[in-house]
Amino acid sequence: MLRSTAAISVHLACPLWGRKAGASLTRCLHQSLTMAKQLQARRLDGIDHNPWVEFIKLSSEYDAVNLGQGFPDFSPPDFAVQAFQQATSGDFMLNQYTMAFGYPPLTKILASFFGKLLGQELDPLKNVLVTVGAYGALFSAFQALVDEGDEVIIIEPAFDCYEPMTLMAGGHPVFVPLRQSPAPKGQLESSNDWQLDPTELASKFTPRTKALVLNTPNNPLGKVFSKMELELVADLCQQHDVLCISDEVYQWLVYDGHQHVSIASLPDMWGRTLTIGSAGKTFSATGWKAAVAQCFEREQQHFGQPSSYFLQLPQAMQLNRDHMIRSLQSVGLKPLIPQGGYFLIVDISDFKSKMPDLPGAVDEPYDRRFVKWMIKNKGLVAIPASIFFSQPHQKEFDHYVRFCFVKDEATLQAMDGRLQKWKGEPQP
Ligand code: PMP
Repeated sequence: MLRSTAAISVHLACPLWGRKAGASLTRCLHQSLTMAKQLQARRLDGIDHNPWVEFIKLSSEYDAVNLGQGFPDFSPPDFAVQAFQQATSGDFMLNQYTMAFGYPPLTKILASFFGKLLGQELDPLKNVLVTVGAYGALFSAFQALVDEGDEVIIIEPAFDCYEPMTLMAGGHPVFVPLRQSPAPKGQLESSNDWQLDPTELASKFTPRTKALVLNTPNNPLGKVFSKMELELVADLCQQHDVLCISDEVYQWLVYDGHQHVSIASLPDMWGRTLTIGSAGKTFSATGWKAAVAQCFEREQQHFGQPSSYFLQLPQAMQLNRDHMIRSLQSVGLKPLIPQGGYFLIVDISDFKSKMPDLPGAVDEPYDRRFVKWMIKNKGLVAIPASIFFSQPHQKEFDHYVRFCFVKDEATLQAMDGRLQKWKGEPQP
């Protein structure tokens, strides 16, 4: 059913909207867009109310001590802040795209660190996936693994995003509550008094059950599931061929000598468990949005003046664009002048008519074959433009390739060098 894959998510960098800003984005859309068509996708019907929006708004309106939202209001540890500073001030490539599964040194250390904990040899490329926050990991997991009509068992009380994420994937949430037994007289109740009723849990599994979401330590109860409870869940998942999405973002926050156990470490669970962690929780840095906020603060002060980055960046990139256009023309490539962005499309029809038989599969669009040829023979990389078209339209648009001009002087010079050489070679 599943490849043995543990997803360990890391709150690496932050998009422009965290939960807080995302909330205001939603409000702004509701307020300002007027369309005859239904604006919101139907899959959001019934799940568009976000309690965080309401309470965060209230908390900012009133002078209230915010003990609601789950973020530390102390600094992350010095070593984490230093690592962040180093990451942004060192190798410039650290600010740019990395491999799709995550920054290789990160996937490597996660594989080694969590592999030991889970008793597995983890392959950094196959078993670890870095996402933007555990939210990102959860969303991706639900979208990738839950199909229309699948049932997903959610143990209540549950972190509030599991239900909407199940619904958005077309699944049906099936809830099973933790049942509370009274604490011994005179003692404070404990999260451990909340237990799964084995018969009730078993009754929720049906042939349509695809996944069970486990959250240990649990938000909001703080319950740390014991090994015995996890074995119960594991047995049922195995009996019914069900996947376990195990949200373990609080795994390092366990008190009174209790032990966090990852369900993936139990016998025969590795192959059906997706384990989700969070660097945000782990290193007390739930949102490294500060640097982005600072950038906007600075920009607001300079906006409209020559010192504005939003002015300087396009000026500099226009020079690059024009440089690239001139250079590409020298070998018979025909650039289309882009009005914006940092890509330009080049028409390669002439090449297509002069050398139509470039190596490649018969049905492979020409632009893909051209790019492979160019990489191998001319030492220049571009992206075939047909990948931006739907399958039925690809053949119609297989005579363009895309170049990117947001490059530094040295790269442009290297390009010029390759193009000069190309120019000196016999043309097709
Ligand atoms: N899972 C649980 C149980 C959580 O409480 C939270 C955050 N409150 C998340 C996932 C999301 O974590 P992240 O900040 O890494 O997106």
